[in-house]
Amino acid sequence: MQYHVKLFTPGPGDVDEDVLDAMAEPVLRHYGPEWMEIYNETISLLRDIYQTQNDIYLVQGPGSALLDMAIGSLLSPGEKIIVGQNGFFGERLQIIADGYGLKTIPFTAPLGKALDTNELRKLAAQNPDARAIALVHHETGTTVMNPLQDITEIARQAGMAIIVDAVSSMGGVALPVDEWGIDICVTTPNKCLEAVPGIGIVSISPKAWEMVDAKKDNGHGWYLNLKTWREFAVGWGSWHPSPVTMPTNIVLAMRTSLRNIMHVGLEAHYAKYRYASQAIRKGLGNIGFEMFIPDAYAAPMVTGVKARPEFEVSELLKWLVAERDMAAGGGLGELSGKIFRVGHLGKASRREYLIDFLFSVEEFLRAKGLKVAEGSSLIGI
Ligand SMILES: *Cc1c(COP(=O)(O)O)cnc(C)c1O
Repeated sequence: MQYHVKLFTPGPGDVDEDVLDAMAEPVLRHYGPEWMEIYNETISLLRDIYQTQNDIYLVQGPGSALLDMAIGSLLSPGEKIIVGQNGFFGERLQIIADGYGLKTIPFTAPLGKALDTNELRKLAAQNPDARAIALVHHETGTTVMNPLQDITEIARQAGMAIIVDAVSSMGGVALPVDEWGIDICVTTPNKCLEAVPGIGIVSISPKAWEMVDAKKDNGHGWYLNLKTWREFAVGWGSWHPSPVTMPTNIVLAMRTSLRNIMHVGLEAHYAKYRYASQAIRKGLGNIGFEMFIPDAYAAPMVTGVKARPEFEVSELLKWLVAERDMAAGGGLGELSGKIFRVGHLGKASRREYLIDFLFSVEEFLRAKGLKVAEGSSLIGI
């Protein structure tokens, strides 16, 4: 294997060997009975994780492409959409919506705070013509969990379609798509589903399809248009479920990981992240770090940690790569230099990774001349 930096990043994460092995299988045709069996099993595993009966499509591209696809396929220029924004990825939703000429109503919260349902009630009352709301479930930019279930209740009552960026939450925390009435839910394999990047996953509710069909224009071209994917799923679905050549090895790798997750069970998979985040919060707290987000709305898959006066965040991150072959994440945008982010995805949630990380941060602090007793980070975890 080539030189490897252990990933403690907010995504992607280090994945299991059997997931990597699937990438080395011979290339398959993306059609025919052999493929249909793999494809159908993968979609069925995703339905279990999404807890939905909705259509699910696999579209090669990053998660952002599928968010772009969904917003552009449902809404027409001039229509109103409420856009949740409390960090980097919420801002991206705003940019996508602006790109389609939608009338965007910003639903904001300060960086490091969760979106506030009272604010949404106000916005919904002021904008009865809003056709949809788009928001991020786990805002990876700040490591805040937004109160998605409460938000969906308000949005549903107001008749809005609900478009969710669940790229870094699906599989990491409970997200029952049908129970919460989520119309579009986008994720990728390379965060809490613990597989490799290369495709996106989108679920589409009957209400979302109604909007697609009622849309005045055709959407936007051919590839990132939900209609194109439905045409093939319906028309050719029994043998060739997608309009283009699928990255079959990436799907095989994801199937391996999804099987593993369902084998241990969703609750155990969620519990693993809770354990890892609590260990990192406690461990870094033991050696003088402060967490960026209070426990009440901190994400269990990524932990945001505040910068300290004794050194720059960039010094710590560079030292970890150079001296210990470990990569954590910095802050994005305005938070650059103010926080760093420790991901717990894949192998990073394992005890040996956690201990390795905490020991290494201790060593960095000692290298900076701070008095930190060896092993003190591990007390109580
Ligand atoms: C990682 C991430 C994205 C970006 O995903 P891409 O696959 O790089 O487009 C979007 N939203 C959230 C919340 C993320 O964590």
